[in-house]
Amino acid sequence: MMQNNYADYDVPQNLKFKTLDIVRMGGLNCTAQIPAENFAGVLQAPNQITKAAVELCFSLANKEIIVTGKISGEREVQCARCLRRVTQPFSETFCETYSTKTEIIDIMYVVLQTLALTEDIRFLCAPDCKGLCPRCGQDLNQGPCGCQEESFSPFAVLKGKFNK
Ligand SMILES: [Zn+2]
Ligand SMILES: [Zn+2]
Repeated sequence: MMQNNYADYDVPQNLKFKTLDIVRMGGLNCTAQIPAENFAGVLQAPNQITKAAVELCFSLANKEIIVTGKISGEREVQCARCLRRVTQPFSETFCETYSTKTEIIDIMYVVLQTLALTEDIRFLCAPDCKGLCPRCGQDLNQGPCGCQEESFSPFAVLKGKFNK
């Protein structure tokens, strides 16, 4: 749920803040949940993020508004080799400056761009994950499966081609 330090201010759900409101309040600290429906069409794997919230701090400086933000949440990712699913916490920060002449400060845009840039699209559960046996499908992290390694290595396939 939304909450803020400014009792009379409702944080806009779409995170598009009116610059005038921020100036009138002399800045703003707030937090907001990011509903998952915002990720579709922006992230390559929009269903990966199972939880996301942002902490925002707007401060006024001269004719500018400086916004620092911290996005944190959880991703459910799948190992690209062994297909194991792992829940991973994440935390990203950003800092943007806007002119007080800007009418709308679109924080949702910044949040989505930050998440898009930090997507983990080729996650590995461990740097040396052994993956699945391409023949029998056993998770090789749990031990050898007994299939003959040589018979389906890429080199063996090449060798077979040359011998024909
Ligand atoms: Zn793995
Ligand atoms: Zn096998």
